[in-house]
Amino acid sequence: MSIGLDEKCHGMLKQAQLYRTEARVAVLKVLFEAVGPLRQDQIAERLPDGGRNKVTIYRTLESLVDAGLVHRAFMQERAWHFELAHHCTDRQCHPHFTCSNCGTTHCLKDFSMPMAPRFYKGFVIQHQQVRLEGLCPACA
Ligand SMILES: [Zn+2]
Ligand SMILES: [Zn+2]
Ligand SMILES: [Zn+2]
Repeated sequence: MSIGLDEKCHGMLKQAQLYRTEARVAVLKVLFEAVGPLRQDQIAERLPDGGRNKVTIYRTLESLVDAGLVHRAFMQERAWHFELAHHCTDRQCHPHFTCSNCGTTHCLKDFSMPMAPRFYKGFVIQHQQVRLEGLCPACA
């Protein structure tokens, strides 16, 4: 574990005006080191204590999501996948691509989608999350 990462996580919590707890820092670190969005159980097994306390992890994730530090990226097989919000903007998450052959989901961090209008037939559009499907480079 690098000291830099700890400081980064502390800074994020401070900016979001969230109390610094061991669990919050640990979950943020796991998400920083992840290559893609993770399910709650995948986060748990990467925690230093093996994520024994499921309630704590659930509440920790909820508080990080409420504060806008973590996003629910997408749902797959009835489970939310979480990731840090630092590659998203307030109005738009980066798109996710799921391969219909191998089932792997990728973050398309540099892929920009045209933004939906703010208002449409009485709907007020506040946030855009796009999910793409097809074949990944390995399967294509
Ligand atoms: Zn996002
Ligand atoms: Zn694939
Ligand atoms: Zn992503």
